[in-house]
Amino acid sequence: MSSETSRGEWYQGRGLWQHVPEDDWKNWGWQLKNRITTPAEIEKYFTLSPAEKRGCAFANKKLALAITPYFFNLIDFKDEDCPIRRQVIPRIEEMETSPEEMLDPCGEDGNMPVPGLVHRYPDRVLFLVTDRCAAYCRYCTRSRLVSNSQGYDFHPEFEQGIRYIESHPEVRDVLLSGGDPLLLADRKLDYLLGRLRAIDHLEFIRIGSRIPIFLPQRVTPELCEILTKYEPVWMSIHANHPKECTLEVKEACDRLARAGVPLGNQSVLLKGVNDDAETMKALVHRLLRMRVRPYYLYQCDLITGSAHLRADVLKGLEIIENLRGHTSGYAVPQFVIDAPGGGGKVPINPEYVKVVNDDEVVIRNYEGRMFRYSRHVGGVQPDPAEQPEQLPAGWILD
Ligand SMILES: *Cc1c(COP(=O)(O)O)cnc(C)c1O
Ligand code: SF4
Repeated sequence: MSSETSRGEWYQGRGLWQHVPEDDWKNWGWQLKNRITTPAEIEKYFTLSPAEKRGCAFANKKLALAITPYFFNLIDFKDEDCPIRRQVIPRIEEMETSPEEMLDPCGEDGNMPVPGLVHRYPDRVLFLVTDRCAAYCRYCTRSRLVSNSQGYDFHPEFEQGIRYIESHPEVRDVLLSGGDPLLLADRKLDYLLGRLRAIDHLEFIRIGSRIPIFLPQRVTPELCEILTKYEPVWMSIHANHPKECTLEVKEACDRLARAGVPLGNQSVLLKGVNDDAETMKALVHRLLRMRVRPYYLYQCDLITGSAHLRADVLKGLEIIENLRGHTSGYAVPQFVIDAPGGGGKVPINPEYVKVVNDDEVVIRNYEGRMFRYSRHVGGVQPDPAEQPEQLPAGWILD
């Protein structure tokens, strides 16, 4: 797998698209219009393996096949195990459902007070504003509705969602997602952000988008102007592998950062893509260089047909263990499991607190060395009557 010992160059290349005029290549409309959406188109560039070929034949019944030429160009055509290829080229394993898998693994549909708006946490909502993406990730947790291949018949409806937020003063944070909100036309996005910004109790607007990775050309100066107009708008991008951090992506992130948009990244732990510490370290280091703060590392949701892409939870813990303390704290994402059935995101951490008793806590550092930290304050032992009623699970109280 890719290793990065020095700063390394930012990949910039067009592979087999040299003949495309620069103006077209850099135009997001051109990139969308020229997406690769059929196995026949893929096979103009490389031969699909039998498992991929059969996967492609079924893909449109589950989640559409679509890849921007820009992102397709990052595939290593000679390598069936290419980490970019595994994310976007369907495989026949997608059509198999394991017993633990679900169509709505995070139980979102049961938490929708109005269609497209998930209100799970006390002070914030997830607002699904479109079912379209620039390209489709084969492990998408929302494949039941994204790309509308499964007859879910999702018609994002701004008005109801906006009215819900307007009438719920406890909502101080909205996360726009989908689908990919940045696929909306500037005019629509301007309208939506304007309506949200006009809500007095809404403090925080953020956008979850893989557009900066799939289609960095979409991050135009005009888009940045809109985001600045309604500041503060935060953004979480979605990069899984260091190869995705190209010069185009770096420049798109630069435009966003200069527009005042704080950037985070959400990765999904994927087997054969990023389930090793070395790859993940290369990714988070590249992200920091693009002014993107790694935010979450997700254990892959139990979405139907994802078994071939899911890695063991302990792999994720091992990766965090290999990051924390070993590299910049800013580079370490929080590893989470979005609880199956709908409990929200649960942080999963290596165990650093070994013992808690009336006198002290015993902790360990990244090297495994143990340390004691006294619980006495001003020489006085804490009153046992004032112990927190519920100690976090996993703590050993002796
Ligand atoms: C992820 C998510 C959020 C945002 O969670 P944070 O931990 O605040 O980033 C909000 N609502 C739903 C339903 C979510 O899945
Ligand atoms: S960009 Fe996000 S919503 Fe779209 S297919 Fe990928 S994971 Fe799903």
